[in-house]
Amino acid sequence: MTTPHHYAIRPKDLGAHLYEVQLTVAAPDPAGQIFAIPAWIPGSYMIRDYAKHVVAIRAEADGRSVELQQLDKSRWQAAPTERVLTLVAEIYAYDESVRGAHLDNTHAYFNGPCVFPSVDGQENVECVLDIQAPDDSIGDGWRVATSMRRKDAQAYAYGTYVAADYAELIDHPVEIGDLAVGEFDVRGVPHAIAIRGRTRVDMARICHDLRTVCEQHMELLGEPRDFDRYLFLLHAPGKGYGGLEHRWSTSLVCSRDNLPQRGEEEISDGYRTFLGLASHEYFHLWNIKRLKPAVFTPYDLANESYTQLMWVFEGITSYYDDLILIRAGLISTESYLELLGQIVTRVIRSGGRHRQSVAESSFDAWTKFYKQDANATNAIVSYYAKGALIAATLDLKLRAESDGELSLDDVMRACWDRWGKGEEGMPEDGFESLCAEMVGDGLEDFFEAAVRGTGELPLQAMLATVGVDYHLRQALSRSDKGGKKKSGKRLTPLWLGANLSSAGGKLTFSSVLNGGPAEQAGIAPGDVVVALDGGALTATNCDRRLRSFRNGETLELVVFRGDDLMTTRITLMDAPANTCYLSIVEEADLATVARRDDWLNSA
Ligand SMILES: [Zn+2]
Repeated sequence: MTTPHHYAIRPKDLGAHLYEVQLTVAAPDPAGQIFAIPAWIPGSYMIRDYAKHVVAIRAEADGRSVELQQLDKSRWQAAPTERVLTLVAEIYAYDESVRGAHLDNTHAYFNGPCVFPSVDGQENVECVLDIQAPDDSIGDGWRVATSMRRKDAQAYAYGTYVAADYAELIDHPVEIGDLAVGEFDVRGVPHAIAIRGRTRVDMARICHDLRTVCEQHMELLGEPRDFDRYLFLLHAPGKGYGGLEHRWSTSLVCSRDNLPQRGEEEISDGYRTFLGLASHEYFHLWNIKRLKPAVFTPYDLANESYTQLMWVFEGITSYYDDLILIRAGLISTESYLELLGQIVTRVIRSGGRHRQSVAESSFDAWTKFYKQDANATNAIVSYYAKGALIAATLDLKLRAESDGELSLDDVMRACWDRWGKGEEGMPEDGFESLCAEMVGDGLEDFFEAAVRGTGELPLQAMLATVGVDYHLRQALSRSDKGGKKKSGKRLTPLWLGANLSSAGGKLTFSSVLNGGPAEQAGIAPGDVVVALDGGALTATNCDRRLRSFRNGETLELVVFRGDDLMTTRITLMDAPANTCYLSIVEEADLATVARRDDWLNSA
């Protein structure tokens, strides 16, 4: 039997944010063992070159130093030895995102790709991990939360953990700190949530609601064969939002204000956001962690891996995350339609949807979606948001054309059966060819236009089949996300054709929309607003002042570009109707109402 690789991680210096990682290999490559640190982390499609955080690295055998040569930005090779070889690295960790590693005097958090080198050629060997306490007594009361299987450790404690291979080792983020923990079962499978952050939440309610969400997901795709535990890791600071999916866990960040306090009963918009995020990452335990693009089987963690299917994995997941909330009875129909209206709004406000298809957006995720610049709104489309709308359109189309016999649920179950359960990997044409198998001909034109085209989706017509009306209106303010009706007399601000951001009291053009008034006036991204029509224009008075002018008026606009003051003239226009809200058709016939109920309540 092969001796496992033995990893040990210790928060070495909290003040300097340094972990010490030791890796002991019983049978190193006699030609000289190569070690590699991943360039990216699965779920976040950008080259991050985690090896850049290595501040010291050395190798030894039997207490004697072994020469270690760096081969490139992320690989090292030890001199040939037949003895047990140990690699020792110090790694800087001060990235407090769900994709990073972080260490300070309040907690320790890490993702495996940031801290654990792989043993080249021996990636399939079992990995044992010893999670050690910091020397400082500051960590004495800390608890350890991870979905990694315990080998010799109490629950939530320092000690020895084990993973079947390197891929599994780096798929269990670890949080160590002052954690609030809640536990619940879903179909007999133990689930837990561990929350870090100064927060006093209604843990019983969170567990109850998460359990309801998880049940609904299980109902849809069934329990994976190796699914025997699940952990939600949640960092709840004052501000923040994000998540990263893993096979048996997820790392989430959301504002503590979004979490329910004891005594609160309503589902606030913030709590709905949190539940939607948790629902999104949980759906990924099927869709991307087990059912994945063929190019991810296995992941090539040294290089970009190109696929046109991100819209299937992120878009369809973004469709189901909120849909599951209404199916679980946690939100109302109106609340669900508001969320869907907000996604439509996000898509139609971006001119980039006419330039880039979701297939292209998926393929170029590495350099475009994950590296957005000021021109992103003009040049790219989100495979999350438009992908979710393609999923919604396809779901309603399947339901309408099969008279309720077929839905996206059936397609996802078929995908799961074919490529998920056995983890064969979905080929690039897999999703569409499977749909064709199930439906027969007739979807080619839909996919061609929706996935590889840049026109509008037939969502409005599809929503009509379930008695939902689609409306467009103007944005009422810079913070108007859409989804709600809202009305009023002359509320509409005039339009500059730009997105503005405010920080430190400054109002800045963060992006300039192609063909809009700001572009025609020669405004560029980064220009700082000084005055409009002789009066100061600020973050606080912007919406109000814009309402005082008329469509077509040409005004003097003063900005700073760098430290140069510039004066130009801008012709204001009425804001475009790029804000969507959806409403229930009250007088819909019984068949339509039945289709709607089926859509929103069935699994
Ligand atoms: Zn996702």
